[in-house]
Amino acid sequence: MIRPINRRRFLSTLGTLIGGSAIGLGLGSCSRPDPDRYNEADIALLRTQRERELARSGKGPFGVQRYKGYRGLAELPWFELDSRGRLRCVDESVPEAIDFHCHFGMSVLFKPELDLNERTERVRHLLDCDATDPGCDLDLDIYINGNFTDEALKELRYQSIAQGLWGSDYARTQTIPNLLDEMDAMRVEKAVILPIAFHFPFGDDLPETWLEAIEATNTRDRFIPGTSVHPRHRNAIERLEKSARAGARVLKLHPTMQAFYPDEPEVMPIYEAAERLGLIVFFHSGRAGIEPESRQRYAMPRHYEGALANFPDLPFVLGHSGARDADAMLEIGLRHENAWFGVHGQGVTHLDRMIDRTGGERMLFGTDWPFYHLAATLAKVLIVTDRPERTRIRHAILRGNAERLLA
Ligand SMILES: [Zn+2]
Repeated sequence: MIRPINRRRFLSTLGTLIGGSAIGLGLGSCSRPDPDRYNEADIALLRTQRERELARSGKGPFGVQRYKGYRGLAELPWFELDSRGRLRCVDESVPEAIDFHCHFGMSVLFKPELDLNERTERVRHLLDCDATDPGCDLDLDIYINGNFTDEALKELRYQSIAQGLWGSDYARTQTIPNLLDEMDAMRVEKAVILPIAFHFPFGDDLPETWLEAIEATNTRDRFIPGTSVHPRHRNAIERLEKSARAGARVLKLHPTMQAFYPDEPEVMPIYEAAERLGLIVFFHSGRAGIEPESRQRYAMPRHYEGALANFPDLPFVLGHSGARDADAMLEIGLRHENAWFGVHGQGVTHLDRMIDRTGGERMLFGTDWPFYHLAATLAKVLIVTDRPERTRIRHAILRGNAERLLA
Protein backbone atom coordinates (compact mmCIF):
# COMPACT_ATOMS: atom_id res chain seq x y z
CA MET A 1 0.00 0.00 0.00
CA ILE A 2 1.26 3.46 -0.86
CA ARG A 3 1.13 5.84 2.03
CA PRO A 4 -0.40 9.23 1.22
CA ILE A 5 2.27 11.90 1.40
CA ASN A 6 2.04 14.57 4.02
CA ARG A 7 1.30 17.41 1.63
CA ARG A 8 2.01 20.23 3.99
CA ARG A 9 5.31 18.75 5.04
CA PHE A 10 6.28 18.03 1.44
CA LEU A 11 5.55 21.60 0.38
CA SER A 12 7.37 22.97 3.38
CA THR A 13 10.51 20.96 2.63
CA LEU A 14 10.29 21.83 -1.01
CA GLY A 15 9.81 25.48 -0.25
CA THR A 16 12.87 25.57 1.93
CA LEU A 17 14.84 23.66 -0.64
CA ILE A 18 14.01 25.84 -3.58
CA GLY A 19 14.56 29.29 -2.28
CA GLY A 20 11.01 29.54 -1.06
CA SER A 21 12.77 30.21 2.19
CA ALA A 22 14.02 33.45 0.78
CA ILE A 23 10.96 34.69 -0.95
CA GLY A 24 8.28 33.51 1.30
CA LEU A 25 6.34 30.33 0.92
CA GLY A 26 5.54 31.04 4.53
CA LEU A 27 5.44 27.38 5.43
CA GLY A 28 8.43 27.26 7.75
CA SER A 29 8.44 26.00 11.32
CA CYS A 30 7.11 28.13 14.16
CA SER A 31 9.64 27.29 16.87
CA ARG A 32 10.19 30.18 19.22
CA PRO A 33 13.59 31.89 19.04
CA ASP A 34 15.54 33.31 21.97
CA PRO A 35 14.09 36.82 22.58
CA ASP A 36 17.56 38.33 22.14
CA ARG A 37 17.39 36.97 18.63
CA TYR A 38 13.82 37.91 17.80
CA ASN A 39 11.03 39.39 19.88
CA GLU A 40 7.70 41.21 19.79
CA ALA A 41 9.39 44.61 19.41
CA ASP A 42 11.19 43.36 16.30
CA ILE A 43 7.94 42.11 14.82
CA ALA A 44 6.20 45.41 15.58
CA LEU A 45 9.04 47.37 13.99
CA LEU A 46 8.56 45.65 10.65
CA ARG A 47 4.83 46.34 10.73
CA THR A 48 5.43 50.04 11.50
CA GLN A 49 8.05 50.31 8.77
CA ARG A 50 5.57 49.08 6.16
CA GLU A 51 2.80 51.39 7.31
CA ARG A 52 5.05 54.41 7.56
CA GLU A 53 6.60 53.83 4.19
CA LEU A 54 3.22 53.75 2.47
CA ALA A 55 2.03 56.83 4.32
CA ARG A 56 5.17 58.78 3.41
CA SER A 57 5.58 57.72 -0.21
CA GLY A 58 5.65 60.75 -2.50
CA LYS A 59 6.00 63.19 0.41
CA GLY A 60 9.81 63.19 0.58
CA PRO A 61 12.33 65.57 -1.00
CA PHE A 62 11.74 64.19 -4.52
CA GLY A 63 7.95 64.27 -4.49
CA VAL A 64 5.91 61.56 -6.19
CA GLN A 65 8.13 59.06 -8.03
CA ARG A 66 5.66 56.68 -9.61
CA TYR A 67 6.05 55.26 -13.09
CA LYS A 68 4.19 52.83 -15.33
CA GLY A 69 6.54 49.90 -15.69
CA TYR A 70 10.26 50.11 -16.35
CA ARG A 71 9.44 51.63 -19.75
CA GLY A 72 7.70 54.44 -17.88
CA LEU A 73 11.14 55.55 -16.66
CA ALA A 74 11.58 57.06 -20.14
CA GLU A 75 9.81 60.09 -18.64
CA LEU A 76 13.01 60.83 -16.75
CA PRO A 77 15.62 63.00 -18.49
CA TRP A 78 18.30 60.26 -18.69
CA PHE A 79 16.21 57.63 -20.49
CA GLU A 80 14.46 57.14 -23.81
CA LEU A 81 12.62 54.33 -25.57
CA ASP A 82 14.36 53.15 -28.73
CA SER A 83 12.56 52.26 -31.99
CA ARG A 84 11.83 48.78 -30.60
CA GLY A 85 10.31 50.23 -27.46
CA ARG A 86 13.27 49.28 -25.28
CA LEU A 87 14.46 51.54 -22.52
CA ARG A 88 17.92 53.07 -22.95
CA CYS A 89 20.03 55.37 -20.83
CA VAL A 90 20.97 58.04 -23.36
CA ASP A 91 22.82 60.56 -21.18
CA GLU A 92 26.51 60.14 -21.93
CA SER A 93 27.50 62.04 -18.81
CA VAL A 94 26.20 59.13 -16.67
CA PRO A 95 29.29 57.24 -15.47
CA GLU A 96 29.61 53.70 -16.80
CA ALA A 97 28.53 51.70 -13.81
CA ILE A 98 29.65 48.63 -11.91
CA ASP A 99 26.64 46.66 -10.70
CA PHE A 100 27.63 44.98 -7.43
CA HIS A 101 24.51 42.83 -7.09
CA CYS A 102 23.44 40.63 -10.00
CA HIS A 103 22.34 37.04 -10.58
CA PHE A 104 21.63 34.81 -13.56
CA GLY A 105 18.52 32.67 -14.02
CA MET A 106 18.50 29.65 -11.74
CA SER A 107 18.18 25.97 -12.34
CA VAL A 108 18.71 24.00 -9.14
CA LEU A 109 17.82 20.76 -7.39
CA PHE A 110 16.57 18.63 -10.31
CA LYS A 111 18.34 21.09 -12.62
CA PRO A 112 15.70 21.57 -15.32
CA GLU A 113 17.25 22.53 -18.64
CA LEU A 114 18.39 26.14 -18.81
CA ASP A 115 20.65 27.55 -21.52
CA LEU A 116 22.37 30.59 -20.03
CA ASN A 117 23.76 31.48 -23.44
CA GLU A 118 20.41 31.96 -25.15
CA ARG A 119 19.09 35.35 -26.27
CA THR A 120 15.32 35.87 -26.09
CA GLU A 121 13.00 38.58 -27.35
CA ARG A 122 12.43 40.06 -23.92
CA VAL A 123 13.59 39.59 -20.33
CA ARG A 124 10.99 38.48 -17.84
CA HIS A 125 12.23 40.07 -14.62
CA LEU A 126 10.84 38.49 -11.47
CA LEU A 127 8.93 41.75 -11.04
CA ASP A 128 7.77 41.58 -14.65
CA CYS A 129 6.73 45.19 -14.78
CA ASP A 130 6.74 45.56 -18.57
CA ALA A 131 4.58 42.49 -19.27
CA THR A 132 1.47 44.64 -19.66
CA ASP A 133 0.84 47.92 -21.45
CA PRO A 134 0.81 50.20 -19.58
CA GLY A 135 3.30 48.58 -17.24
CA CYS A 136 2.79 47.86 -13.55
CA ASP A 137 2.94 50.54 -10.89
CA LEU A 138 6.54 51.25 -9.99
CA ASP A 139 7.06 53.48 -6.97
CA LEU A 140 10.68 54.53 -6.47
CA ASP A 141 9.96 56.06 -3.07
CA ILE A 142 9.27 52.79 -1.22
CA TYR A 143 11.32 49.66 -0.58
CA ILE A 144 11.29 48.07 -4.02
CA ASN A 145 9.56 44.78 -3.22
CA GLY A 146 6.57 46.82 -2.06
CA ASN A 147 5.79 47.03 -5.79
CA PHE A 148 4.87 43.34 -5.93
CA THR A 149 1.10 42.91 -5.84
CA ASP A 150 -0.27 39.82 -4.06
CA GLU A 151 -0.72 38.22 -7.45
CA ALA A 152 2.86 39.03 -8.50
CA LEU A 153 4.13 37.56 -5.22
CA LYS A 154 2.23 34.35 -5.90
CA GLU A 155 3.87 34.17 -9.32
CA LEU A 156 7.29 34.77 -7.74
CA ARG A 157 6.76 31.81 -5.39
CA TYR A 158 5.58 29.61 -8.23
CA GLN A 159 8.61 30.51 -10.35
CA SER A 160 10.98 29.77 -7.48
CA ILE A 161 9.60 26.23 -7.22
CA ALA A 162 9.70 25.86 -11.00
CA GLN A 163 13.43 26.71 -10.95
CA GLY A 164 14.08 23.48 -9.08
CA LEU A 165 11.57 21.14 -10.67
CA TRP A 166 10.23 21.57 -14.19
CA GLY A 167 12.03 24.78 -15.19
CA SER A 168 10.95 28.41 -14.99
CA ASP A 169 9.92 30.32 -18.12
CA TYR A 170 11.20 33.44 -16.37
CA ALA A 171 14.62 31.92 -15.71
CA ARG A 172 14.90 30.96 -19.38
CA THR A 173 15.04 34.67 -20.23
CA GLN A 174 17.50 35.58 -17.46
CA THR A 175 20.50 34.70 -19.53
CA ILE A 176 23.96 36.09 -20.16
CA PRO A 177 23.23 37.67 -23.60
CA ASN A 178 20.02 39.22 -22.25
CA LEU A 179 21.80 40.65 -19.24
CA LEU A 180 24.58 42.02 -21.44
CA ASP A 181 22.00 43.70 -23.70
CA GLU A 182 20.41 45.33 -20.69
CA MET A 183 23.81 46.37 -19.31
CA ASP A 184 24.71 47.94 -22.67
CA ALA A 185 21.39 49.78 -22.79
CA MET A 186 21.93 51.08 -19.23
CA ARG A 187 25.62 52.05 -19.44
CA VAL A 188 26.55 49.31 -16.99
CA GLU A 189 30.04 48.13 -17.81
CA LYS A 190 30.51 45.31 -15.32
CA ALA A 191 28.44 43.22 -12.95
CA VAL A 192 29.31 41.15 -9.90
CA ILE A 193 27.48 37.83 -10.23
CA LEU A 194 26.35 36.41 -6.91
CA PRO A 195 25.27 32.76 -6.69
CA ILE A 196 23.79 31.17 -3.59
CA ALA A 197 24.69 27.86 -1.98
CA PHE A 198 21.64 26.01 -0.74
CA HIS A 199 21.68 22.96 1.47
CA PHE A 200 20.36 20.51 -1.09
CA PRO A 201 21.24 16.85 -1.13
CA PHE A 202 22.13 17.29 -4.84
CA GLY A 203 21.94 19.79 -7.68
CA ASP A 204 23.50 22.45 -5.47
CA ASP A 205 26.32 23.84 -7.57
CA LEU A 206 25.24 27.30 -8.75
CA PRO A 207 28.67 28.86 -7.98
CA GLU A 208 30.41 26.33 -10.23
CA THR A 209 27.71 26.44 -12.93
CA TRP A 210 27.75 30.23 -13.16
CA LEU A 211 31.53 30.47 -13.16
CA GLU A 212 31.63 27.93 -15.97
CA ALA A 213 28.96 29.88 -17.88
CA ILE A 214 31.06 33.03 -17.62
CA GLU A 215 34.11 31.16 -18.89
CA ALA A 216 32.18 29.43 -21.69
CA THR A 217 30.78 32.72 -22.97
CA ASN A 218 34.12 34.50 -22.72
CA THR A 219 32.61 37.29 -20.64
CA ARG A 220 35.19 37.70 -17.90
CA ASP A 221 35.68 41.30 -19.05
CA ARG A 222 32.04 42.07 -18.12
CA PHE A 223 31.35 39.80 -15.16
CA ILE A 224 33.11 39.60 -11.82
CA PRO A 225 32.37 36.14 -10.46
CA GLY A 226 31.12 35.69 -6.93
CA THR A 227 30.75 32.47 -5.01
CA SER A 228 28.75 31.11 -2.11
CA VAL A 229 29.05 28.40 0.51
CA HIS A 230 26.58 27.17 3.05
CA PRO A 231 28.02 27.85 6.51
CA ARG A 232 26.90 24.41 7.68
CA HIS A 233 28.50 22.48 4.86
CA ARG A 234 31.23 20.22 6.12
CA ASN A 235 33.55 21.15 3.26
CA ALA A 236 32.63 24.86 3.12
CA ILE A 237 36.21 26.10 3.53
CA GLU A 238 37.57 23.75 0.90
CA ARG A 239 34.89 24.84 -1.51
CA LEU A 240 35.66 28.46 -0.79
CA GLU A 241 39.37 27.95 -1.43
CA LYS A 242 38.56 26.24 -4.69
CA SER A 243 36.35 29.06 -5.96
CA ALA A 244 38.87 31.69 -4.92
CA ARG A 245 41.50 29.83 -6.95
CA ALA A 246 39.07 29.81 -9.89
CA GLY A 247 38.78 33.60 -9.71
CA ALA A 248 35.80 34.38 -7.45
CA ARG A 249 36.13 37.75 -5.71
CA VAL A 250 33.00 37.99 -3.60
CA LEU A 251 31.41 35.55 -1.15
CA LYS A 252 27.63 35.76 -0.99
CA LEU A 253 26.04 34.79 2.32
CA HIS A 254 22.31 34.91 2.86
CA PRO A 255 21.27 34.62 6.53
CA THR A 256 17.52 34.23 5.81
CA MET A 257 17.81 31.84 2.90
CA GLN A 258 20.62 29.84 4.51
CA ALA A 259 19.11 30.04 8.03
CA PHE A 260 22.05 31.23 10.14
CA TYR A 261 22.86 34.21 12.33
CA PRO A 262 25.79 36.19 10.94
CA ASP A 263 27.41 36.33 14.40
CA GLU A 264 27.22 32.59 15.16
CA PRO A 265 30.56 31.09 16.25
CA GLU A 266 30.06 28.43 13.58
CA VAL A 267 30.39 31.05 10.82
CA MET A 268 33.60 32.65 12.10
CA PRO A 269 35.92 30.18 10.31
CA ILE A 270 34.20 31.17 7.04
CA TYR A 271 35.05 34.84 7.63
CA GLU A 272 38.59 33.87 8.59
CA ALA A 273 38.98 31.97 5.34
CA ALA A 274 37.42 34.79 3.32
CA GLU A 275 39.90 37.24 4.80
CA ARG A 276 42.84 34.94 4.14
CA LEU A 277 41.69 34.45 0.55
CA GLY A 278 41.23 38.17 -0.08
CA LEU A 279 37.49 37.84 -0.69
CA ILE A 280 34.79 40.43 -0.06
CA VAL A 281 31.77 39.17 1.91
CA PHE A 282 28.40 40.17 0.50
CA PHE A 283 25.52 39.74 2.95
CA HIS A 284 21.86 39.82 2.26
CA SER A 285 21.04 42.18 5.13
CA GLY A 286 17.85 43.01 6.98
CA ARG A 287 14.31 41.78 6.56
CA ALA A 288 12.86 42.03 3.07
CA GLY A 289 9.41 41.46 4.49
CA ILE A 290 8.45 38.78 1.96
CA GLU A 291 10.45 35.88 3.42
CA PRO A 292 8.72 33.40 5.75
CA GLU A 293 8.34 34.81 9.25
CA SER A 294 10.33 31.91 10.66
CA ARG A 295 13.41 33.18 8.79
CA GLN A 296 13.15 36.89 9.60
CA ARG A 297 14.94 36.48 12.92
CA TYR A 298 18.26 35.79 11.18
CA ALA A 299 18.43 39.14 9.41
CA MET A 300 18.00 41.57 12.30
CA PRO A 301 20.68 44.29 11.98
CA ARG A 302 22.12 43.68 15.46
CA HIS A 303 23.12 40.13 14.46
CA TYR A 304 25.54 41.52 11.85
CA GLU A 305 27.61 43.61 14.20
CA GLY A 306 29.65 40.70 15.59
CA ALA A 307 30.98 39.87 12.14
CA LEU A 308 31.81 43.50 11.36
CA ALA A 309 33.53 44.03 14.71
CA ASN A 310 35.49 40.77 14.79
CA PHE A 311 36.91 41.11 11.29
CA PRO A 312 37.81 44.78 10.87
CA ASP A 313 40.08 44.00 7.90
CA LEU A 314 37.48 42.01 6.00
CA PRO A 315 35.15 44.13 3.84
CA PHE A 316 31.46 43.32 4.23
CA VAL A 317 28.86 44.61 1.80
CA LEU A 318 25.47 45.01 3.47
CA GLY A 319 23.24 44.06 0.55
CA HIS A 320 20.00 46.09 0.36
CA SER A 321 21.47 48.27 3.16
CA GLY A 322 19.27 46.45 5.65
CA ALA A 323 16.20 46.22 3.38
CA ARG A 324 13.21 47.13 5.58
CA ASP A 325 15.56 47.47 8.58
CA ALA A 326 17.45 50.24 6.85
CA ASP A 327 17.52 52.75 9.72
CA ALA A 328 19.17 50.37 12.19
CA MET A 329 21.53 49.00 9.54
CA LEU A 330 22.71 52.47 8.57
CA GLU A 331 23.71 53.20 12.18
CA ILE A 332 25.59 49.90 12.45
CA GLY A 333 27.32 50.37 9.11
CA LEU A 334 28.44 53.85 10.08
CA ARG A 335 30.14 52.44 13.19
CA HIS A 336 32.35 50.09 11.15
CA GLU A 337 34.71 51.18 8.41
CA ASN A 338 34.69 47.73 6.86
CA ALA A 339 30.95 48.00 6.14
CA TRP A 340 29.82 48.94 2.64
CA PHE A 341 26.25 49.75 1.72
CA GLY A 342 24.62 47.95 -1.22
CA VAL A 343 22.00 50.47 -2.30
CA HIS A 344 19.66 48.06 -4.05
CA GLY A 345 16.04 48.22 -2.94
CA GLN A 346 16.01 51.45 -0.95
CA GLY A 347 13.65 54.20 -2.05
CA VAL A 348 14.84 57.65 -3.05
CA THR A 349 14.06 59.30 0.29
CA HIS A 350 16.17 56.82 2.23
CA LEU A 351 18.97 56.93 -0.36
CA ASP A 352 19.08 60.69 0.10
CA ARG A 353 19.41 60.21 3.86
CA MET A 354 22.17 57.67 3.33
CA ILE A 355 24.10 60.15 1.19
CA ASP A 356 23.69 62.84 3.85
CA ARG A 357 25.10 60.50 6.49
CA THR A 358 27.90 58.85 4.48
CA GLY A 359 28.81 61.57 1.99
CA GLY A 360 28.34 58.82 -0.61
CA GLU A 361 31.34 56.92 0.72
CA ARG A 362 31.12 53.13 0.74
CA MET A 363 27.77 53.16 -1.09
CA LEU A 364 27.62 50.64 -3.94
CA PHE A 365 25.28 50.53 -6.93
CA GLY A 366 23.50 47.17 -7.28
CA THR A 367 20.34 46.09 -9.06
CA ASP A 368 19.44 42.56 -7.92
CA TRP A 369 18.83 41.62 -11.57
CA PRO A 370 16.85 39.56 -12.65
CA PHE A 371 14.40 40.47 -9.91
CA TYR A 372 14.17 43.95 -11.41
CA HIS A 373 15.30 45.87 -14.50
CA LEU A 374 18.71 47.51 -14.07
CA ALA A 375 17.01 50.85 -14.71
CA ALA A 376 14.98 50.75 -11.49
CA THR A 377 18.03 51.29 -9.29
CA LEU A 378 19.91 53.38 -11.85
CA ALA A 379 16.99 55.83 -12.01
CA LYS A 380 16.97 56.17 -8.23
CA VAL A 381 20.70 56.90 -8.04
CA LEU A 382 20.37 59.48 -10.83
CA ILE A 383 17.41 61.18 -9.13
CA VAL A 384 19.13 61.50 -5.75
CA THR A 385 22.38 62.77 -7.26
CA ASP A 386 20.76 65.20 -9.68
CA ARG A 387 22.43 68.36 -8.45
CA PRO A 388 25.89 69.76 -9.20
CA GLU A 389 27.26 69.27 -5.68
CA ARG A 390 26.50 65.55 -5.96
CA THR A 391 28.20 64.85 -9.32
CA ARG A 392 31.21 63.36 -7.55
CA ILE A 393 28.94 61.27 -5.33
CA ARG A 394 27.09 59.94 -8.40
CA HIS A 395 30.37 58.71 -9.83
CA ALA A 396 31.39 57.21 -6.49
CA ILE A 397 28.15 55.24 -6.06
CA LEU A 398 27.90 54.04 -9.65
CA ARG A 399 31.55 53.17 -10.10
CA GLY A 400 34.32 54.71 -8.01
CA ASN A 401 33.53 52.98 -4.72
CA ALA A 402 33.28 49.56 -6.39
CA GLU A 403 36.63 50.13 -8.11
CA ARG A 404 38.19 50.99 -4.77
CA LEU A 405 36.71 47.93 -3.10
CA LEU A 406 37.73 45.55 -5.88
CA ALA A 407 41.25 46.98 -6.27
ZN1 LIG B 1 20.03 39.40 -4.79
